[in-house]
Amino acid sequence: MSLLIRDGRILCAHTATDRKADLRVQDGVVADIADRLEPSTGEDVFSAAGRIVAPGLIDMHVHLRDPGQTHKEDIETGTRAAAAGGFVAVACMANTAPTLDDPRWIAHVLDAAESRGSARVHPLGSITRGLEGRESSPHEALHAVGAVAFSDDGKSTMDDDIMRAVLRYGARHDTPVFVHCEDPEIAGDGVMHDGDVSASLRLPGIPPEAEERIIVRDCVLAQDTGGHVHIQHVTTRRGVEIIRAAKAGGAPVTAEACPHHFTLTHEAVRDHGPSAKMNPPLRTADDVHGVIEGLSDGTLDAIATDHAPHSAEEKSQGMREAPFGIIGLELCVPLTWTSLVRGGHLSDAQALGKLTAAPAKILRLPPPRIEVGAPADITVIDPDMRITVTSEHIHSKSQNTPFVGTALTGWPVLTVCGGRETFRRRSHA
Ligand SMILES: [Zn+2]
Repeated sequence: MSLLIRDGRILCAHTATDRKADLRVQDGVVADIADRLEPSTGEDVFSAAGRIVAPGLIDMHVHLRDPGQTHKEDIETGTRAAAAGGFVAVACMANTAPTLDDPRWIAHVLDAAESRGSARVHPLGSITRGLEGRESSPHEALHAVGAVAFSDDGKSTMDDDIMRAVLRYGARHDTPVFVHCEDPEIAGDGVMHDGDVSASLRLPGIPPEAEERIIVRDCVLAQDTGGHVHIQHVTTRRGVEIIRAAKAGGAPVTAEACPHHFTLTHEAVRDHGPSAKMNPPLRTADDVHGVIEGLSDGTLDAIATDHAPHSAEEKSQGMREAPFGIIGLELCVPLTWTSLVRGGHLSDAQALGKLTAAPAKILRLPPPRIEVGAPADITVIDPDMRITVTSEHIHSKSQNTPFVGTALTGWPVLTVCGGRETFRRRSHA
């Protein structure tokens, strides 16, 4: 297959490229880049005029629900959703059923991605057996078969000794530990942010301290052990401030924010109910501004979706019973461009960095780049395309998102993974 991407703005931080040029994909690699390339006979030509041609995007936080919860998502549908979101690679969390605490389940994920995937899949192994927080998973064996990091995402690992042990392993083997920060004693049975909205809806709240206390602990453990802590889905202004201070003090800490947390406040729960229920929850407008400031000044390194599919039946149970989480892969780029780039908080290049170079560095993957001879992992983004989200834009097996009906600007229009076209947007509708 040969594909000519014409007239795009090639934007690649790794090669310090920002130029209008044509690019040819052939035999899985970027075969040529020049001011003008003429199509060969029968060659597929994609017009990228007015569009950004970027290295393929990486989502470092998704839930593919495979093995065990494939009524919500599986590796085939989850990676299809990834491709539709402009992603060429995802890192998937270990809270499957069974947990990714055994090398054979890591191998299952890798095999399924290889045979049925539309994106590269990098599985994480769990920190503890069954995410129960009591017994360490076999980190070395998980790492040996391809786990790129460790996480008990969905919960915090409350046993400090287990955390120290996995961080020391990480320090020795250059492997990050991803942390979901939530003190269960403080969070209690909360289902949304603890504030005036939860009070008026008479729903139990999750105070910001539940998240912030564990951010503090994990920053201290990173500093003490030298192990790399990556803090997932930061939602509060004070959480950002704690991470900023820890980084200034030299702690080996990185952090991510999710599109819903820099776009919506807890007010969204009034309109969207369980479709706006996730953990950690949507917070206040001041917290949203704090997260955006953290993204702008680099305290928050990466943008990740926390793509968390659940079936309509599960999500229809009401705020108290419905599971936490919303899908995110397909709408990450439009939410990032609408809220952050068009909002004047990040440049195109900065937004791309948080979806390419930063996650790659944290995951110890090769730097995403557009370069002759390099693997053709490419995402084309139309920064001006405006679309009102409908269920047709969702490729996941699940539809749990509060953004259906929202008009968003800045969409991925073409995804190429290893030279294979994995997504092309067919219409603007
Ligand atoms: Zn989480």
